[in-house]
Amino acid sequence: ADAIAVRGVSKWFDKEGTRTTALDAIDLRVAPGSRVALVGPSGCGKSTLLYVVGGFVAPSAGAAFAFDRPITGPGVERGIVFQEYALFPWLTVADNIAYGLARKGVAKAEIQRIVAAYIDRMHLQGFERHYPRNLSGGMRQRVALARTFATEPAILLLDEPFGALDAQTREYMQDALLELWTASSNTLLLVTHDIDEAVYLCDTVYVMSRRPGRIVRRIDVDLDRSQG
Ligand code: ADP
Ligand code: ADP
Repeated sequence: ADAIAVRGVSKWFDKEGTRTTALDAIDLRVAPGSRVALVGPSGCGKSTLLYVVGGFVAPSAGAAFAFDRPITGPGVERGIVFQEYALFPWLTVADNIAYGLARKGVAKAEIQRIVAAYIDRMHLQGFERHYPRNLSGGMRQRVALARTFATEPAILLLDEPFGALDAQTREYMQDALLELWTASSNTLLLVTHDIDEAVYLCDTVYVMSRRPGRIVRRIDVDLDRSQG
């Protein structure tokens, strides 16, 4: 089964008699364990497509599936990191990271071990008991990544996950992501406007065009590398 299957998905927004088409009959299949990037200009529909797969946006037409099951809402097998790193403001850094693990029913001692490991890995030592409002943007983004990585979801959905990080931290996080992928062989769908990042992290890159919200090109990175 495909990890992700998007079949004829369109999404439009109607406002004051004007229709904005964000996605126009998109077909996309992602094999389990592969790493796929969506790139394209701002407004081409990348985030909307990711949110459809995440179950946060319902298609206007067509349907999306995760491991053959229709996507009708958020699900535990799909972990998503939003662009604006939506942390739970009422939870500490440690409790934010623990959140998904607790939901999955992981034992308390195991949660503590995993949280401690991610505090180290994401360089958040000393901030365990801080609340998100007291953190810098880059730190919040690292907490959001830790919270999602910690649950090792079968499908990892990332929307410009490294945008708020400085160049050095971004490189470190990109490598942490590849490490996680190697360890848990999950399926990765990454939205980015950074083609270098897409090529570094993914084996397939889909290019979307602004009008009318379609996939216009597929680039097989490994193939291109071997030819280069
Ligand atoms: P990208 O992620 O590639 O920048 P988006 O998926 O965010 O693109 O947006 C695609 C198009 O859909 C844009 O024209 C955007 O303005 C529009 N759009 C996205 N979400 C909404 C919404 N909730 N309401 C109205 N228009 C939206
Ligand atoms: P329900 O309790 O109906 O299953 P929730 O709103 O508690 O739905 O969460 C559904 C999924 O969405 C969970 O996997 C959760 O981690 C995620 N989620 C909910 N709110 C946020 C948020 N603010 N930021 C990031 N992920 C969230």
